[in-house]
Amino acid sequence: MKVCHFCGNKNLRKAQVQYTYRYNDNFLIVNDVPCEQCEFCGEQYFKGSVLKQIEKEFFSIYSHGKKVKKELIVPVEQFSEIHSSNN
Ligand SMILES: [Zn+2]
Repeated sequence: MKVCHFCGNKNLRKAQVQYTYRYNDNFLIVNDVPCEQCEFCGEQYFKGSVLKQIEKEFFSIYSHGKKVKKELIVPVEQFSEIHSSNN
């Protein structure tokens, strides 16, 4: 039986979530990634094979120029520049 490493809860349910892979400030977002998610704290557990597949895809895109279906433009801010702006 699996137990959540963070909170000790024993109820993990199957879920499909958005996974963000990050390496050297390059990002790959993969939707509908299968995982098991803790019902109490929300921690997500991925199979090693799933993570390997995402890693492989990341390097296909960034090292071998593989085309992707969709790209996002992501705003980036520095916290010190935004935290005083809401009065
Ligand atoms: Zn948990």
